[in-house]
Amino acid sequence: MTDFPSDLDGQARAWLAKFADALEHANSEALEALFQPDSHWRDVLAFTWHLTTVDGAAELAQALVATQSEAQASSFALDPDRTAPRMVKRAGTECLEVIFRFETALGRGSGLFRLVPGPAGLVAWTFHSALQELKGFEEKTGWNRPKGDSYARDFGGPNWLDQRRAAQAYAGRDPAVIVVGAGQAGLDIAARLGQLGVDTLIVDRHQRIGDNWRNRYHSLTLHNEVHVNHMPYMPFPETWPTFVPKDKLANWFEAYADAMELNVWTDTSFVGGTYDDAEERWTVTLRRGDGSERTMSPRHVVMAVGVSGIKNVPELPGLDSFAGTVVHSADYTDGAPWQGKNALILGTGNSGHDVAQDLHSHGAKATLVQRHPTTVVSVEPSGQMVYALYKEGPPTADCDLITTSTPYALLKRTFQMIVKETQEIDRDLLEGLKRVGFRMDLGEDETGFQMKYLRRGGGYYLNVGCSELIINGQVGLLQFDEIERFVAQGVRLRDGSVVPADLIVLATGYKGQQDLLRLLFGAEIAERTGPVWGFDAGGELANMFKRTGQPGLWFIAGSLAQCRIYSKYLALQIKACEEGMISRSLDPTSKPALAAE
Ligand SMILES: Cc1cc2nc3c(=O)[nH]c(=O)nc-3n(C[C@H](O)[C@H](O)[C@H](O)COP(=O)(O)OP(=O)(O)OC[C@H]3O[C@@H](n4cnc5c(N)ncnc54)[C@H](O)[C@@H]3O)c2cc1C
Repeated sequence: MTDFPSDLDGQARAWLAKFADALEHANSEALEALFQPDSHWRDVLAFTWHLTTVDGAAELAQALVATQSEAQASSFALDPDRTAPRMVKRAGTECLEVIFRFETALGRGSGLFRLVPGPAGLVAWTFHSALQELKGFEEKTGWNRPKGDSYARDFGGPNWLDQRRAAQAYAGRDPAVIVVGAGQAGLDIAARLGQLGVDTLIVDRHQRIGDNWRNRYHSLTLHNEVHVNHMPYMPFPETWPTFVPKDKLANWFEAYADAMELNVWTDTSFVGGTYDDAEERWTVTLRRGDGSERTMSPRHVVMAVGVSGIKNVPELPGLDSFAGTVVHSADYTDGAPWQGKNALILGTGNSGHDVAQDLHSHGAKATLVQRHPTTVVSVEPSGQMVYALYKEGPPTADCDLITTSTPYALLKRTFQMIVKETQEIDRDLLEGLKRVGFRMDLGEDETGFQMKYLRRGGGYYLNVGCSELIINGQVGLLQFDEIERFVAQGVRLRDGSVVPADLIVLATGYKGQQDLLRLLFGAEIAERTGPVWGFDAGGELANMFKRTGQPGLWFIAGSLAQCRIYSKYLALQIKACEEGMISRSLDPTSKPALAAE
C-alpha cells in the first residue's frame, strides 16, 4: 500500500472536491482526468432514474455531464454517519474506498468511489451514485416517526386496530399498487412503499403469509448466514441461529407483515389483468378463496412471484407409462412416506440434492439423475465467501451500498477469484465427486454458482451433506444419457437393465417470468416487457427493480439480501411516478403525469 498517502480522509476529500468542481462546470475533460481509463460509473436513479453502468473514463465523464443538467447534483461531502474512508481489496485490487453523500434537484443520495494510484496522484476506478430519498417524502423513521396522535388521543374515534382493519378491507377504494406475492420480495417492497405513503395491497394465493417457505421440504434451512438476510427496518433478533430454519423464517414473515402494518390478502390469486394506456391504470382480477372475484384498478402491479412461478416439466420418453408417483420438487414436502422405497430424483441443482438427502434420511433408496454438469461448493466456508463483505465490520446499510456500487465487470472478476479459492478449499470434495462420475462445471467464464444464480437462477449445489452421500454410494447417481426410457417399474437403461422406482421427483426447475406474463397478461404485454432476470446487454439484471417496457409493471425477486437492497430503489421509483417526478413509461417522449385520484 506504499502508493497510497497516509492521509486517507484528506485524499478522499480532495478528489471529491475536484469531482464536484468539474461536474459543476460541466467540464468533461477535467472529469475524465479524475478517472483511470478503465473505470466504471454505476448510477442507481440519482442522475439517470435508471439502474445503469457506464464503462470507460471518457464515456462516463460525458454521461455525467449530460445527465447533470437535469439531476443538478451538488453538496458532495464525505458522510460522517457512514464508514470512514478505508483501504480495502476489491476484485484483487487495493484501493481507497470512500462513501459520500450529495443532493440532487429531487432528492438526497449516497455514493461510493474507489481510488487507485494513477500517474499523477490518485484516480477513481469506480464511482457509484444512488438516490436514497426524495425531498419532501422522507421516510417516517427514527426522529421522523409518526406520533400516533390520530389513534391514541381521539377517544371517540377509531383506534389503531379499527384503522388497520379499514385499511386492509379496501371497501370502496382500490390501492395504488398491487403486489403479487407475499414472499420476502413482496413484503419488502410493500414495507418500503408504506414508508413513502403509497397505498399498497399484497395478494398471495397461499393460506398464510410465510407458506412459500413453510411448504418447502421439511429439512430446509437458509443457505446463507443470518446477518446477510435481514429484512428492511426490522433486523432478525441477535439470538437467531446462523442458518435460519424455513418455518422460523415463515413465522417471522407473518410477524413482519403485522409489525410493518402491511395490507395482505392471503388465499387470493391474481388471475390477470389489462392495461389502459390512456388512463395509465390496470384492471386486474383477484380471486378470493371462496371463489368470489374482485376487480381493482391500481396504477402499478409489482410482480413479486419469485422465480418459481411455473414448474418446468421436461419431455421425458415413456414417463406416462410410469406406474409410481411423479411430483415436481415444488410439491415435495417430506420423505417419511417413502421409507424403504426407491426414488429417482431428476436434476442435480440445490432442490434435487436436498430432496435426495431428505429421502435418504427417511430410509428411502434415493438416486440422483444428472442431465447437465453442476457447480458444487461447500455451503461453509466456500458458499459464504460471496458474502464476506458483510463480515468486514461496516453496518448493513454501508455493506448494501458497497454491494450496489459493484459494476458487472468487477462482479465477474470477484466471482472468478472466489471460484479459484473455493476450488482449492473444496478439493477433496470435488475429487470425490469426480471419482464417482458426477459431472461438474464452474459456470460460464468460470464465475461459479453466484453468477449462475444471477444469470439463470440455478445449476448449482451448495453442499450440505448430499455430496458425501453420493461419494460413499448412499445416494445413487445415474447419468441421464444412460436412460433409454421411463417404464412402468422405473427407468430402463440403454444396457437393458431396469432401475426400479416408486417415486420420481422432477427437480427440473422453473420457467422464466415471461411465460408467467403471457399467462396473466397475454402475449402483447409479455413482448412489451421482454426477458426478466439474467443480465441485459448493459450488465444489469434484465427488467428487475426498474421501469420496464410495460408502464406500471415492475419486478422484484432474488435472495433476501437482494430484495432488502433493491426494494428501496423500486419503491423510490414508484413514489416518483406517483408524484409526477418521472414518467412511468420508458418512452423518452412520454411526459410524467401526476397520479389522478
Ligand atoms: C430450496 C431453496 C433454498 C433457498 N435458500 C435461500 C437462502 O438461503 N438465502 C436466500 O437469500 N435465498 C434462498 N433461496 C432463494 C430465494 O430467497 C427464495 O426462492 C425465495 O422464496 C424467493 O422469494 P420471493 O419473494 O421472490 O418469491 P417466492 O418465495 O417464490 O414467493 C412468491 C409468492 O408469490 C405467490 N404467487 C405467485 N403467483 C401468484 C398469483 N398469481 N397470485 C397470488 N399469489 C401468487 C406465491 O404463492 C408465493 O407465496 C432459496 C430458494 C430455494 C428454492
